[in-house]
Amino acid sequence: MRRNRHFYDVAEKYLFLEVQEKKEFFLQKNPDAKLISLCVGDTTEPLAQTIAEAMQESASNMATSSGYCGYGPEVGLLKLRLAIAEKIYNGQFSPDEIFISDGAATDIGRLQTLFGAGSKIAIQDPSYPAYLDTSIITHGKKSVILLPCTPENNFFFDLNRAKKADIIFICSPNNPTDRLYNYKELDLLIQFATEYKKVIICDSAYSFFVQEGLPHSIYDVEGAKNVAIEIGSFSKMAGFTGIRLSWTVVPHALCYPKEKTPINPDWTRLVSTFYNGASCISQHGGLAALSDQGLAEIKKQAAFYLQNAAILKRGCEASFETFGGVNTPYLWIALKGKSSWQAFDELLERCHIVATPGIGFGPSGEGFLRLSGFGARKTMEEAAQRLAQFQFT
Ligand code: PLP
Repeated sequence: MRRNRHFYDVAEKYLFLEVQEKKEFFLQKNPDAKLISLCVGDTTEPLAQTIAEAMQESASNMATSSGYCGYGPEVGLLKLRLAIAEKIYNGQFSPDEIFISDGAATDIGRLQTLFGAGSKIAIQDPSYPAYLDTSIITHGKKSVILLPCTPENNFFFDLNRAKKADIIFICSPNNPTDRLYNYKELDLLIQFATEYKKVIICDSAYSFFVQEGLPHSIYDVEGAKNVAIEIGSFSKMAGFTGIRLSWTVVPHALCYPKEKTPINPDWTRLVSTFYNGASCISQHGGLAALSDQGLAEIKKQAAFYLQNAAILKRGCEASFETFGGVNTPYLWIALKGKSSWQAFDELLERCHIVATPGIGFGPSGEGFLRLSGFGARKTMEEAAQRLAQFQFT
């Protein structure tokens, strides 16, 4: 057996591991430093009570003869698929267009196996590293077309660069830039995909943070069902990063542009082959999150993280050009000439704050840092104070 040769083309270390190692090294040298970590996009607030109770009940039922359940449907509990169809998509989809999974990251990787050999995959640059890494590991580096998204183009990529692609990954609102594509921009993308026969994969992992009146899903725009798959997640929405629960929508209307056959049956086949379904306990937690009470509780948490981001943003604004903190709890800081890792080191050494180097999200992230508003309020206030007094050399 030989190594998959594409491993030679992916970054050796996953971005967050590298950050973690630097942080640990710094702490070994400075054990008394009061380090503030604004680097990882992980939820920190306790689970909503409604969700915890539903999972407790589900676990207790498993200890009874009548309530025990073994394997569930590979595509997820019908009740949960119905709830997602109704609460997230206002009844636009039937449950057999919604597939439950144990994480958006899992499905990003799995989706790659749908695309035939030689497929070209366009990816927003910067973006969540899994799109690039899974594309390279599965299809090789030549499959990738990067789409720079920078302040100069208002983080909306040049569509001409995507003309050679078969698949376009978008993330709206975007991690790390926070940029949300508005109705007009989504419409433009859908028209482009329709005209040039592309499939869009839209990652909406952060859409729960988006304010009312703005697009929460690519399917909020006419025509998307014919060209787009959407991935959603309970991770940031309801604090399920450790519990694991997500969904993917593959509409019946969506076809392979070349064969003109529907993608949905292949995805059903693929999921049933590679997977035996998400934990039924987490699915009951997901159902509770979508109840009226659950939604009210998780909305408060989302507002809390956005307030954290607003506090950080106020701290940053005097010294740095700052984007974001509005549609996601992430700030995207422009460094004006400094490299991402130089700025990372300087912030760590002089301010005792751990950020995420923008370069880790793609070449167009060079010269930026990402700061995360996931954390305790006191931590954010302290970080904001330190940032307000900080200047890069
Ligand atoms: N998509 C984006 C844009 C993310 O930022 C993340 C996690 O940070 C994920 C997907 C992963 O989500 P999940 O926890 O559902 O695997």
